[in-house]
Amino acid sequence: MKAEIIAIGDELTTGQRLDTNSRWLSRELGLLGITVGCHVTVPDTLHDGERAFREARERADIVIATGGIGPTADDLTREVLSRVAGEPLELVPEALRAIEAMFASRGRVMTDNNKLQAMLPRTAAMVPNPTGTAPGIDLPGRSQAPPLGRVFALPGVPSEMERMWVDTVRPAILAMNPTGGTMQFRVLKCFGAGESAIEAMLPDLIRRGRDPLVGITAHEATITLRIAARGSSESACQEAIAPVEATIRECLGDLVFGEEQDDVEDAAARACAGRGLRVTVSEGGTLGRVATLLAEADRRQQSAVFHGAHLAAAGDAGDDMLATAESHRRDSQTDASIAIGDALRDDDGQEWLPMAVVTPQGHVAHRHRLAGSGSLRISRAAKTALDLLRRLALGLPTLE
Ligand code: AMP
Ligand code: MG
Repeated sequence: MKAEIIAIGDELTTGQRLDTNSRWLSRELGLLGITVGCHVTVPDTLHDGERAFREARERADIVIATGGIGPTADDLTREVLSRVAGEPLELVPEALRAIEAMFASRGRVMTDNNKLQAMLPRTAAMVPNPTGTAPGIDLPGRSQAPPLGRVFALPGVPSEMERMWVDTVRPAILAMNPTGGTMQFRVLKCFGAGESAIEAMLPDLIRRGRDPLVGITAHEATITLRIAARGSSESACQEAIAPVEATIRECLGDLVFGEEQDDVEDAAARACAGRGLRVTVSEGGTLGRVATLLAEADRRQQSAVFHGAHLAAAGDAGDDMLATAESHRRDSQTDASIAIGDALRDDDGQEWLPMAVVTPQGHVAHRHRLAGSGSLRISRAAKTALDLLRRLALGLPTLE
């Protein structure tokens, strides 16, 4: 079975908000073994919405849309689906009762435009919305030629949409897909080499059409490798993934620092927590990013690695980072210490950030070559320091 996803909203097409719903739904559909052929994003207009639904229904067995089903004038998905189905909107008493009950339970007064949300195209069924007011719309498909896909229109609010998917839409789709194939993912995280360098280290794994498929993406210098396998069962997928994962780990060695949601700071905090290390940070050119990342990692994994930080004003960070890290560690009576100086500029214009990491397992001084701009360049520098901390704590070689 093939699916397509439509995201609806001016806030999406104008760039004020990122469409995270399509990403979430694609992943969920993949887990059911359903290929997503296309994501389409349209503004809140009848014309664009109508065209998107008509085209998607011609190509796909299932069309899932999010957004535009609220009570306000810019919420046009109901009207769009009425046109697409060629059916008038009719009041669905069950839907009206659900909306009334939701208002009553919140002690709020229901206005007339809320009743609009109980209007659905004649052959459509409602998708209950247990955590919001706007019910979703389930518009049946057609199997005789030309076939048309079944449409599920859900609210834009991610939490409502996700709950409705789990409660109603996913079971309905599973009932349509008796073969029950599935897709499983494995995510490996790497740091310390660029995207293309990492790709070059992997023997022909990142080729389109392979199964399992390996994808590579980069975000703030963290490289994500995603292995996706399709199969008849979860265990068949896992069996297909295991040798690919082993090959990647063999080729990349300790460039792989973690899995799934991990980022460099999580791996660093875990490495330190495993050895009982407390870390103090003293930073200039990274503007507190190292401290923030480490404190956030502590919060996520409920560790207590981060001990405190000193943030130096521009020009005040000093020159000898190893000496700074060592004295800071002594003064704060911690086990490990990271020190990062101010950016320095070469005669040829190249900028550098001096940094040092001291741990009981060893120490390293490093000149980090600043590249990129703005927040990316600070993230990359901060993560470089945290990766040095991870490497020292684990007794791994520090790069260079
Ligand atoms: P709507 O159902 O169109 O009224 O949207 C309600 C809320 O959900 C708004 O705050 C939207 O910004 C948000 N929203 C709508 N579509 C999406 C989407 N595709 N991804 C993430 N958030 C969304
Ligand atoms: Mg909207």
